Amino acid sequence: MLQHNTAVGGGLQDHLGINYLYRATEPTLNGTLGSWRGRLAAGLRFVLQRAGPLSLSVNQMGGLVRSGPGLERPDTQLYFSPLSYSTDYVGRRPLLKPDPWPGFILGFNPCRPTSTGRIDIASPDPTQPPRIQPNYLGTAADVAGVLAGARLIGRLQQTPALRGLTLGPPAVDPAALTDDALLADFRARSGTVYHPCGSCRMAPEGQGGVVDASLRVHGVQGLRVVDASVFPNVTSANTQAPTVMLAWRAAGLIFAGR
Ligand SMILES: Cc1cc2nc3c(=O)[nH]c(=O)nc-3n(C[C@H](O)[C@H](O)[C@H](O)COP(=O)(O)OP(=O)(O)OC[C@H]3O[C@@H](n4cnc5c(N)ncnc54)[C@H](O)[C@@H]3O)c2cc1C
Repeated sequence: MLQHNTAVGGGLQDHLGINYLYRATEPTLNGTLGSWRGRLAAGLRFVLQRAGPLSLSVNQMGGLVRSGPGLERPDTQLYFSPLSYSTDYVGRRPLLKPDPWPGFILGFNPCRPTSTGRIDIASPDPTQPPRIQPNYLGTAADVAGVLAGARLIGRLQQTPALRGLTLGPPAVDPAALTDDALLADFRARSGTVYHPCGSCRMAPEGQGGVVDASLRVHGVQGLRVVDASVFPNVTSANTQAPTVMLAWRAAGLIFAGR
């Protein structure tokens, strides 16, 4: 059976984040994970004791915060990593390599982007990658969210606690750049936080929907979609737990025959 619905692949959303790298006054995990010897020792420690840096999340601290007064709810997710590394998103994701000096990362992503993109089949050949048009920063609200988040990082780095831990501002200084420069830097260096969803949105037919509230595909008998693609919009934080929650709910719906 064929069902034509241009909403399939539309509604794509994601979180787009950026890192600011700081030189630290204290040793960080760069000292442990920056060499093969250190990595080997950390690997052995993990295998033998299930402990050490490899037993930890790379983001040791984070938070959902309001980037400024007057906001009703948090609009920015913060990340803090006790090591610093650069990523290269051009075509592939190489191994992360800690910097050869003590350093750490402060990063953020806006929580509720309003831009939507598309993912479409690019060829009848299933081995060919799809065509992805994320359309990041496609709205003025999303641009404002980026500037607010970057300014917040700039204020955080100027707190006495963080000034005591850093050897000055980062190379790209969110406290010093103009809005245009901040945005240009964000466009150049930001990357996905790996939360793509929404390309089979749960919404009414004809209003951008692919599945109904019971996750049944509009216009097709006996077919449901149960994954992050049915989110009506990207969640305000990480997507894994909401996907598990969705799967739990879907199992109930399927068992109940609804
Ligand atoms: C690098 C990375 C880091 C992330 N970090 C976090 C994090 O820290 N916290 C968080 O909350 N979220 C994180 N996420 C996001 C989270 O993993 C996803 O939102 C979540 O896994 C989405 O679940 P899903 O079921 O929609 O898709 P997936 O988990 O991608 O599941 C799709 C499944 O379908 C299978 N599959 C694909 N094609 C076929 C086929 N043709 N036939 C059969 N099976 C097929 C795949 O093998 C896979 O098992 C991260 C994602 C990535 C990529």
